[in-house]
Amino acid sequence: MTSVDRFADISILRYEIPDFDRLPPVRKVLLFYLSKAALYGRDIVWHQNYAGNLLIRRALEAVYRHQLAAGRPDGRLAVYLKRLWFANGIHHHYSGDKFVPDFGREELCGWMAGVPSRTFEAAVGTTADKAFEAIAPVIFEPGRDARKVCLDPQRDLVTDSAVNFYSGLTQRQVEEFYADADADASRHPLNSTLVSTGGQPREIVWRVGGRYSECLAYVCHWLNKAIGVAENERQVDVIRRLIRFYETGAASDFAQYNISWVAEREAGVDFINGFIEVYSDPLGLKATWESIVQLVDDEATRRADVICRHAQWFEDHSPIDDEYRKKNVRGVSMRVINAVMLGGDCYPSTPIGVNLPNEDRIRERYGSKSVSLANISAAHRKAAADNGVAREFAQTEAEWQRCRLYGAVGSELHTQLHECLGHGSGCMKPGCRLDDLKAYGSTIEEARADLFALYFMADPKMVELGLLPDLDAAWAHYDSYLRNGLLVQTARIAQGKNLEESHMRNRMLVCRWVLDNAGPQTVEMIERNGKHYVAIRDYESLRRYFGLLLRKVQRIKSEGNYDEARALVETYGIRLDPALHAEVAERYAALRVAPFAGFVNPRMTPVMINNKVADVRIDYEETYEEQMLRYSQQYSVPMRIDMD
Ligand code: ZN
Repeated sequence: MTSVDRFADISILRYEIPDFDRLPPVRKVLLFYLSKAALYGRDIVWHQNYAGNLLIRRALEAVYRHQLAAGRPDGRLAVYLKRLWFANGIHHHYSGDKFVPDFGREELCGWMAGVPSRTFEAAVGTTADKAFEAIAPVIFEPGRDARKVCLDPQRDLVTDSAVNFYSGLTQRQVEEFYADADADASRHPLNSTLVSTGGQPREIVWRVGGRYSECLAYVCHWLNKAIGVAENERQVDVIRRLIRFYETGAASDFAQYNISWVAEREAGVDFINGFIEVYSDPLGLKATWESIVQLVDDEATRRADVICRHAQWFEDHSPIDDEYRKKNVRGVSMRVINAVMLGGDCYPSTPIGVNLPNEDRIRERYGSKSVSLANISAAHRKAAADNGVAREFAQTEAEWQRCRLYGAVGSELHTQLHECLGHGSGCMKPGCRLDDLKAYGSTIEEARADLFALYFMADPKMVELGLLPDLDAAWAHYDSYLRNGLLVQTARIAQGKNLEESHMRNRMLVCRWVLDNAGPQTVEMIERNGKHYVAIRDYESLRRYFGLLLRKVQRIKSEGNYDEARALVETYGIRLDPALHAEVAERYAALRVAPFAGFVNPRMTPVMINNKVADVRIDYEETYEEQMLRYSQQYSVPMRIDMD
């Protein structure tokens, strides 16, 4: 199955759930309830991303539905809506830049006025006039709320970011408010909007009875149902604690939930549901809402678990300073899962691996759970197979052939090492925190996990453990990592822009650093017929440099060394060479490949017997547009959506 939709720089794929129909009905029902809980949080992330997102979506969907009913949908409106749906708002999901529609202000005004007023008001909650007045400046004025997340340290990260976590406050006020959040358990750095009341910061907590109450009440309703069909007692405890956290919003309840969640390792069904990742907050405090419902693949998990059983060996052999090494690696587990439902910030663009919880103190004491999303990776690989990118950017025919042969095994192992061991390895110096790295923290942390994967990927232990057929697979991975970090990934960035997203920054940082420090006898950039290529001359030497950088990055994290983090990221991870960037864009465009891909979910239909869900059917028929319009009707609960 290839792309089901294609627009702007995006391709929409479908993932399948192998053997879903053969599952016991009770397990399917559990997956159904957890999926409901995943979908009801959709509007939270829209509102978190930008205060005006929901009003914009509702107004444009009302227009589009009206046009569809009349049999005259406007193609430009369709594309703009598809982009909105993909990004969960008006800012590009990856670059964070506001994108603009191909239609004009006057056209939108006419379209909105053309929807019967009762229909419009019922769908949007206000009149077309008022809605237009509120949304038109945001949509059409380029400078208005143009950046979702500002990471430029010269600017005020809070006031210059459009993301909706803070209101009426400066960066300094927010930082002061949270300066001793560790000591003050009554604060909610992760799950609240910080607003200004009479000049003083005040938290509006995200919980039932607080902000997002309407959505979270539905999420809890479906989680409650899941309790009745949970797989074991511990899973019942996990779900109860999550509901309790949504009810109180207390940091201590979130910690209790995470501790319980990490300990549950037996069930065949698992899930992520909550305020989890802080990438969208320029200060790295506030978490966006997300959910992934997971079905464990036992067979693949047994294979992957080999890495986890040797976790202590890896930690002991990591090329980092002894004082930042974990003495006792605890509770590392790896699960290979198939995604069953994606929600919130994980939909439609989704990660291929996740390691949680994020809280370092919990990880150090109780361990963490890693998942690798097998069916998502498989769908990406299928779409990428022979799309021409590797062939275009590989330096030689032999490099490309080796990449074809080993590409899948290398990238899978990289993800597992990165998620399962990389993020969990090392320890903090007492009194230091990752937060101290501020806007550079996410990039440093991702670089650390990537370097861990790169360094160990080429360890003979990998072949010994049966994880790689031979070290050639590791060298093929080094080729593709550098090719991507230095060249291919920049195709995702508009000309004239620099890197913002932390995973992209991390890859560029790692690649540029080795290129600069290892010298041409190890790795160099070469030019042939006006095209640039990466040529690795000495793979063993390159591995040593990955090890050196891992040691450095671990020390920066462990010591919370802001100045060094800043120097490293600013020197190597952000700025693009304009000429090289343009060259990559041209080569990439000639291949006609969408730089980004995301997913439609399967559609679940409950089979009711005596008013109870007795079984669940699944199908893969829905188009991207149908799914998005359905979600907006089915899972959008009335919520205050003023432009606050
Ligand atoms: Zn990561």
